[in-house]
Amino acid sequence: MSSQSFSLQADYQTFIDELGKSDFKGDINTDLATRIVFATDNSIYQNLPQAVIAPYHHDDIVCLTQLLSHSKFRHIALSARGGGTGTNGQSLTSSIILDTSKYLTHILEINPEQRWARVQSGVIRDQLNDALKEYGLFFAPSLSTSNRATLGGMTNTDACGQGSRIYGHTSDHILESTCIFADGTSHIIKSKPTKQDLKQNSTRLQSLSDKLSNQLTAHHQEISQRFPKLSRYMTGYNLAQCQNHDNNNHLNLNKLIAGSEGTLAIVTELKLNLMPIPKFKYVFALFYTDFQDALKSAHQLLAIHPTSIETIDDNVLSLAKKDPIYTELEDFFPREVTR
Ligand SMILES: Cc1cc2nc3c(=O)[nH]c(=O)nc-3n(C[C@H](O)[C@H](O)[C@H](O)COP(=O)(O)OP(=O)(O)OC[C@H]3O[C@@H](n4cnc5c(N)ncnc54)[C@H](O)[C@@H]3O)c2cc1C
Repeated sequence: MSSQSFSLQADYQTFIDELGKSDFKGDINTDLATRIVFATDNSIYQNLPQAVIAPYHHDDIVCLTQLLSHSKFRHIALSARGGGTGTNGQSLTSSIILDTSKYLTHILEINPEQRWARVQSGVIRDQLNDALKEYGLFFAPSLSTSNRATLGGMTNTDACGQGSRIYGHTSDHILESTCIFADGTSHIIKSKPTKQDLKQNSTRLQSLSDKLSNQLTAHHQEISQRFPKLSRYMTGYNLAQCQNHDNNNHLNLNKLIAGSEGTLAIVTELKLNLMPIPKFKYVFALFYTDFQDALKSAHQLLAIHPTSIETIDDNVLSLAKKDPIYTELEDFFPREVTR
């Protein structure tokens, strides 16, 4: 990379100058060190952004997107970033990064009776579950990076992991999202809106919903043929599940926002469904002489409705034995069978 490409492009400098003069209260970073830190995530890719912007609150993002919607700045892209744990480089951009993990980290409300929590999108999954412990509740969708991934990132990748057989994905637990569209308008999107809620929709949201609903109905057959019937759904626009054709064509826009990798809206807040923490947990370790036999028996094991099944081959097991935490697990793996 030449030193020329490290310097801020003139049009970005103009944008940053105008943002600095606006009501925006958050951090605007254009120094090379910060840009280099945000040039990588958990993927193999590297992409140097022009600036890294950390909003203090929802209104900052409204201010930012409204400015970006002016015709002179239309070519400037904004990529939201949570924990940066994505493996496909989804949060990287050569344009502007919106860092939600710095200030949008507040748990706004917990309602244990009705079993929901309202959070800002930069709240980390484990942070929420730590706060919920005293109520005997938890946010069920899980993932390996749960001590770093944010709920905004989980929403936008429709994340799930251990336990998804029983608890489903992030999108199954979104009751409401607060979203800012590219034109700077802000919308509360309910997963199960009542007639009253629909009446309160902004004209923009209602017109988008109507157009989408018409398209989904018109192409229903093709969508159901083309989308694979998978329980672990892929990231992307979930056209197959955002309209329920068995329930009066009910449209759940949160199913579409979830998995859209920040391309449809910036999510600033989420109202999330909570589950009771299970009273008991069991772990069964079964041993097979052949890896293929282990895979083949998965169907039989499903009959006992496990939360999840992990298959570990001897390669992984021998590597795990070298890890210091293995001593906490070794009772599950008796020497005589795992030698
Ligand atoms: C070792 C490892 C294990 C993993 N295990 C799992 C797993 O078990 N299950 C699983 O599902 N994934 C897994 N992942 C992938 C990753 O952790 C998830 O995709 C996670 O949900 C990303 O969250 P994040 O906060 O880090 O988001 P980021 O990586 O920062 O962003 C992910 C995407 O969401 C968008 N985004 C983030 N915040 C917002 C927002 N507020 N508004 C709009 N768009 C936003 C970004 O633009 C980007 O497109 C794993 C990754 C690693 C490295």
